[in-house]
Amino acid sequence: MEEWIIPILEDAICFISKSLFMSATVIDGRILAREIRKEIRSKVKAILKKGERAPKLAVVMVGDNPASKAYVRNKVRSCEKCKIEHVMHHLDESVTDSELLQLVDDINQDDSIDGVIVQLPLPDHIDEDQITLRIKPQKDVDGFHPQNIGRMALGLPAYIPATPKGILEMIKRYDIETEGKHCVVIGRSAIVGTPMSILMSRKAYPGNATVTLAHSRTTNLIDVTRQADILIAAIGRPHFVTAEMVKSGAVVIDVGINRVDDPNAEKGYRLVGDVDYDAVAKKASFITPVPGGVGQLTVTSLLENTLLSRLHAIYE
Ligand code: NAD
Repeated sequence: MEEWIIPILEDAICFISKSLFMSATVIDGRILAREIRKEIRSKVKAILKKGERAPKLAVVMVGDNPASKAYVRNKVRSCEKCKIEHVMHHLDESVTDSELLQLVDDINQDDSIDGVIVQLPLPDHIDEDQITLRIKPQKDVDGFHPQNIGRMALGLPAYIPATPKGILEMIKRYDIETEGKHCVVIGRSAIVGTPMSILMSRKAYPGNATVTLAHSRTTNLIDVTRQADILIAAIGRPHFVTAEMVKSGAVVIDVGINRVDDPNAEKGYRLVGDVDYDAVAKKASFITPVPGGVGQLTVTSLLENTLLSRLHAIYE
């Protein structure tokens, strides 16, 4: 058997056994991502057929953080699958603020580039906020610029940050009701928790929910989470959400990606979410696995935003 096929088979067996023996419907990020990539690819082909150029994404990465390298590799591979062009700028760890700002300025002015992402985290000596602010809002396909966050909050056309956008897509494609539901988001980061809470309270579908944003200073968290019809965990702590924190029948979305030691795994670790999956899946109505859940759609959302930019769908 070819070596590359083994992890795919393992994933498939794991997914099938999870689906068969537990009560919750498993939201399969891999299947959704495949569907979405197919849709993006056919839209890109339609652009090419008209004799126009393909969408193009600029990817900026600083240093050699292994997790960042893996994320970037994944994004680049997804671009290729969707026929979205990309240009990679891999800079040395020692790059200065001004050199990085100059690169962002150059990309901003390059009419052949529709979107730019600067892979975070950046080294400590670089001011991340300054870099985010410098990216032209029209090319900010990560949706991190205050102009896009503000437009999103007002319900105006905006690039929605990739992870929350992916979660909305999951909710839509699994036809999950959100109107009038109590949605509890745990975690208030600027890239996941905060935008997620805004989106779920917007007058739209998915949305129209009553939203509670819980965080590290929330008291009696369990009393809050047990009220959730929809529980979204974006904390960064392995298996933090236990079954007793979850109401029976709740929809549970697990954003967390955490490495835990596993001497039996090839790399010495495995990835787990913020939710105690096995126990919570017995109580939930829908649940996302890790891996194979939200992370898959984070990447496709980025590609969708790049396509939207190429089509001038957000800004004229
Ligand atoms: P972050 O560290 O910026 O924020 C974590 C949040 O958790 C904070 O707002 C904090 O208030 C809250 N928190 C911490 N301890 C808590 C506690 N005891 N009780 C309640 N709240 C608590 O993290 P982030 O960037 O939002 O990422 C969260 C997790 O999601 C991480 O595991 C990250 O790797 C993962 N992530 C996944 C994707 C994806 O595509 N699936 C994308 C981004 C982040």
